[in-house]
Amino acid sequence: MSKAKLTDRFGRTVNYVRLSVTDRCDFRCVYCMAEEMTFLPRQQVLTLEEIARVARTFVSLGTEKIRLTGGEPLVRKDILELVKEIGSYGLRDFAMTTNGSQLPTMAEDLRKAGLKRLNISLDSLDADKFHRITRTGRLSQVLDGIDAARDAGFEGIKLNTVVMKGGNDHEVPDLVEFARKKNVDITFIEEMPLGEISDHDRGEVLCTSDEVRDIISQHHELVPTPEDSGGPARYYRMPDSNTRVGFISPHSHNFCSTCNRVRVTVEGRLLLCLGNEHSVDLRRVLRGHPVTNEKLRETIINAMDLKPERHHFSSDGDVQILRFMNMTGG
Ligand code: SAM
Ligand code: SF4
Repeated sequence: MSKAKLTDRFGRTVNYVRLSVTDRCDFRCVYCMAEEMTFLPRQQVLTLEEIARVARTFVSLGTEKIRLTGGEPLVRKDILELVKEIGSYGLRDFAMTTNGSQLPTMAEDLRKAGLKRLNISLDSLDADKFHRITRTGRLSQVLDGIDAARDAGFEGIKLNTVVMKGGNDHEVPDLVEFARKKNVDITFIEEMPLGEISDHDRGEVLCTSDEVRDIISQHHELVPTPEDSGGPARYYRMPDSNTRVGFISPHSHNFCSTCNRVRVTVEGRLLLCLGNEHSVDLRRVLRGHPVTNEKLRETIINAMDLKPERHHFSSDGDVQILRFMNMTGG
């Protein structure tokens, strides 16, 4: 089948899809989830076969990059089967975002199944603080996971850190040293107003990327690079290291004009923008047309007209999007 291109009303080509494979997670990070969460009943969740159909259809429409996320993708049963399937599509890039807790036992199999790159979340190097932020996580397990990923030979490993003022901002220099020592990249993320949380006031703890960059600059020279994933991150290099430092700044840097991505939630909702509620129900199409993918293709092509020009996050701490990040697929 010839590969069509997905293009939106603003001339942006969409060639990157983030697929959420579960809303469940073994952690309860304070910025992502409430302490008590109700997860989706099984019949509302796409089966792995349905997720693979969505992936295949996007690939037939020119998608070159797929990222699996969640929730925690590695707690989904039989996730390796899906990784193998998508790994066989010959994509330019195939990545996963994970909290790392299952990597000690799964990293090698994931790599063998064709996964190319991993983003691993790491908000603290202090075991108590790590437990406080994740509510259930064990730091040693994640550190072992990072080592297992390095041993498995992924093409790229990047750490993701959500920076909270008065929470983990004082650890920024140590996290950069850690990334340098492990020879992996690191990206610092501004917290986004997704879902209502009780742990803290988001406006109060917002630590902007400019502030994080100033902290790092006291220790290392940061040289801007033109490297661009078409995504929200801006990257810097340090002259004496291979480690790249990235910043994702939804509040202080508007990245919408080069947006090349869409998301599919685990319920099969195609989200055209992280910061808007526009969406299209692919599950209804998948289940209404179980044999051929023509209707699915048509629905995805038409959905591009709904992609908004930009997001409208503000930093006053208000919840602007009622979905939690684990529902959205971070
Ligand atoms: N469980 C995996 C993990 O933690 O990496 C994948 C899903 S998680 C939702 C994806 C990324 O979103 C993580 O790096 C996490 O730190 C980030 N995240 C979660 N909630 C966020 C929020 N409100 N603002 C900014 N980033 C958030
Ligand atoms: Fe789970 Fe990832 Fe959300 Fe943390 S950020 S609760 S690990 S889905």
